[in-house]
Amino acid sequence: MYKKLYTEFRKSFDFETFKKNSFAIHGFEKTCSYNDFAKAAEYCFHKFKEAGASDVRKIVLKADGKTSYMDYIMPEAWDIEDAKLEILDASLSEEMRLLSDFKKNTLCIGNRSAPTPVDGMDCEVVRWSDYVDKKVDIKNKAVFTTIHPGQMYSAAADAGAVGIISSYSPAAEECPDDTFWLNGMSSPGWYHTKEDKKIFCFSIPPRKGSFFSRFLDEGQAKVRATVKSRIYDGEIFTVTGRIPGKSKEEICLFAHMYEPFIPDDSTGAAIMISMCQAINNLTSEGRIPELQKSIRFVISMERYGFAQYLRNSKNTSKMLCVVNMDSMFHSSRKAGILPELRICPASMPFFSDLMIKDIIEGCNPKLKYTEKKGNLSSDTFGSDKKIGVPTTWLWTPSGKYHHNSNEIFSEPDWDTGFEIVSVIGTYLLFLSTAEKDALRKLGKRLDGIAEKELVSEFIQLKSMLKHKELSVRDSIEKATFLSSIQKDRIISLNNIISSVVDERRTANKFGKYARQFAAKTCDDFPKAIFSKMERKASNIVLKRIGKDMPFSLTKVPYDKRIKHPSDPYMYSLINWMDGKRSLYEIMRFIEFEHGKKYSDSDINELIEYFKYLTKYGYFKMLPKYRLTKSNIIQGLRKLGIKKGDRCILHSSLSSMGEVKGGAETVCLACMEALGNNGVLMMPSFNHYEAVSERGKGFYDPLQTPTTNGAVPDFFWRMKGVFRSLDPSHAVAAWGKNAADYVKNHHNVPTMGYGSPLELLEQADGKVILIDCPDANTFLHVVEMTNDAPCLGKRTEEYNVKLPSGKMVKYRTWGWRNGPCRVFSAQKHYELMRSGKLMKEGEIGGAHVMVFALSDFRKVYEKLLRGNIPGVAGCSGCPRKPRKVAATVPTDWHKHIRKII
Ligand SMILES: [Zn+2]
Repeated sequence: MYKKLYTEFRKSFDFETFKKNSFAIHGFEKTCSYNDFAKAAEYCFHKFKEAGASDVRKIVLKADGKTSYMDYIMPEAWDIEDAKLEILDASLSEEMRLLSDFKKNTLCIGNRSAPTPVDGMDCEVVRWSDYVDKKVDIKNKAVFTTIHPGQMYSAAADAGAVGIISSYSPAAEECPDDTFWLNGMSSPGWYHTKEDKKIFCFSIPPRKGSFFSRFLDEGQAKVRATVKSRIYDGEIFTVTGRIPGKSKEEICLFAHMYEPFIPDDSTGAAIMISMCQAINNLTSEGRIPELQKSIRFVISMERYGFAQYLRNSKNTSKMLCVVNMDSMFHSSRKAGILPELRICPASMPFFSDLMIKDIIEGCNPKLKYTEKKGNLSSDTFGSDKKIGVPTTWLWTPSGKYHHNSNEIFSEPDWDTGFEIVSVIGTYLLFLSTAEKDALRKLGKRLDGIAEKELVSEFIQLKSMLKHKELSVRDSIEKATFLSSIQKDRIISLNNIISSVVDERRTANKFGKYARQFAAKTCDDFPKAIFSKMERKASNIVLKRIGKDMPFSLTKVPYDKRIKHPSDPYMYSLINWMDGKRSLYEIMRFIEFEHGKKYSDSDINELIEYFKYLTKYGYFKMLPKYRLTKSNIIQGLRKLGIKKGDRCILHSSLSSMGEVKGGAETVCLACMEALGNNGVLMMPSFNHYEAVSERGKGFYDPLQTPTTNGAVPDFFWRMKGVFRSLDPSHAVAAWGKNAADYVKNHHNVPTMGYGSPLELLEQADGKVILIDCPDANTFLHVVEMTNDAPCLGKRTEEYNVKLPSGKMVKYRTWGWRNGPCRVFSAQKHYELMRSGKLMKEGEIGGAHVMVFALSDFRKVYEKLLRGNIPGVAGCSGCPRKPRKVAATVPTDWHKHIRKII
């Protein structure tokens, strides 16, 4: 299918000219000076013209530390002429004294380093770690660091340091004599803005770093730093041109410029020039079909320059897709690192992933590569939904050798690079020349490949399920997610030419796979039980405002800017935000796509960060659920609650979402759902707060708030609600004969026979747990009526202020003196679920469980009696009622069930 194009492309690509251009562009870029960047741009401008490109344009971008494109603040222009770093110690040989010399190694000076006085600057050097650990003064001194200067630059500059000497290198062990290039050292954003303090920054090879470190150990060290640089308001350029096709719609190639390595990325611009020439030759000689689509070439500054290009909807409206041409020529193979196909992010699936693989298999099966999921990094951020240009990237990653003067990173592997370029060239020629029929055929072919991929993904899921690496629920949700991505990949072909793929047929086909998977796995799978933060995230919906992915944080005042969270998938997360999905749902997508499981602390960090960005206008934060009284009643009905039911409710109001009217609405909804013939009960405990020294020293049923949450605290104050007189664990009740349930509470054991909850059980009562699986108090009734030895029956005595104003002493239970070894909510609910003794559902964002008290008792008594394997029963447990100041001997006769 692609072979002819592949062969023609390779024949017509002038490799020698390409190499020549790569060297020439590198010649301008190797010092990273803006005055030379201008020459590089000018060179490419002319070369594009020579190669026959149309509408070749140079776009001037500001380089002033202030202007922003999207959320990228352009760094100021910078020129470097010379730099040198020497140890001031006559006892050392000249060679040992010299730490860095720009004339020998242009990478020794950090990008955008501040100048020193013309004759250099003599300064003392202290370790950065001594500043951090021992607060050693660094004012007017240089600091020596082995961590990436980006992590300490601002702090060092703010503390008055004049410069940084870094021996940081991720490949320190493998190449101790090579230099790590220090590019951007700012955060947020890569580069410093006008407001940032600038100091000098040298990068020395790790071996020199170790030597210098030993030298520092011996006592005071002084260096002379000389940097002849200039930071100023200048310009930087985008160069673009195109080969017109029949349609104005464009397939684009992006390559960044302005970095000091041949394969990163002088080759990118040079490939484009040669591709342009090759395609023009091929069309003029009639060796390939006529171009249907136009081909656009764009070279600019990485991220920042493309932000300027992509923010313009005039540019993006005709762009169909992008190929990122960055870093195709590293000698990664020397380090055993394979070329990598960066898959388009799941938030913007695109057929190119399947097609590139197909081209490699058909044209050059010897080209081995790995696949990595996309994360909108580097110049693939066009896949941002707000920009909307799917971006493909086949490249040679270099791992820890990145941005290093070692041969793996800086010396081109011409052969591998050309294999990659040939694949991309074929892809480009196919897409730009294909008419409807060819694209339809491609659609069928890719559909088959996607199907195969999905089948193998499902096999993997099944194996994970079998080995319990994945829960039933996770596997079903992931299967749905994966099939939907394959579907969207195929449908994305319609973006190139409309209706070449039948969307309904494709959706049905892939949807069916997911449904079958679910049917075979389990047709009735339990809902998730959330952690606290997951619950919180499931109630937060974020809506992006404007086009800007947060990068330099332009919208935030300079002194309020903070670092981005360390989550490598932050942009992937943001790309899913549509103002409808909850943050939790999106995190699940990241989990399915990248395998990242968010811990509660990760979620907390992200929520705090998104709150911060919301404050500065990047997002709107909305509740996922907005509930009214009738929504809650409907939810209860779905769970089988009907008029006349007698229920105890435990609830977490915040879990439900935003409830119109708050706690009152929840109370009213429950009352309405149960009706006047029903009974509604809620805990009204003060958990010893009121009766102890921490509180007032007495319980007052008319005054004492409950610590059970907002809903119960509203409930006991309502008209027609009766509250019992148990000093620490009162219960409130409303409805038919409500008073009868609570009136005797202070005359019986708190959770024993005759207590409100035990009476509710007698009356066929139910429990409703609105997102508080651990709050089911009834379990203590089962314990007490089974004479669990750990709970004291009426063994503590406290003051109660009666409604008449009279102060009396009433008794409550004695709490156990340590944790219970029998009850585990998780285990218990598993048993309830497997016995189908429980109904579960959702009200708003809350997970709700409903079950009969008597069913709960059945299961719990088995556990208490030690009849469930793996759970030790009550018998032989050393727990006893606690002893506190209020402890008294029991007054309860357990056989006649009366006060003695
Ligand atoms: Zn690059």
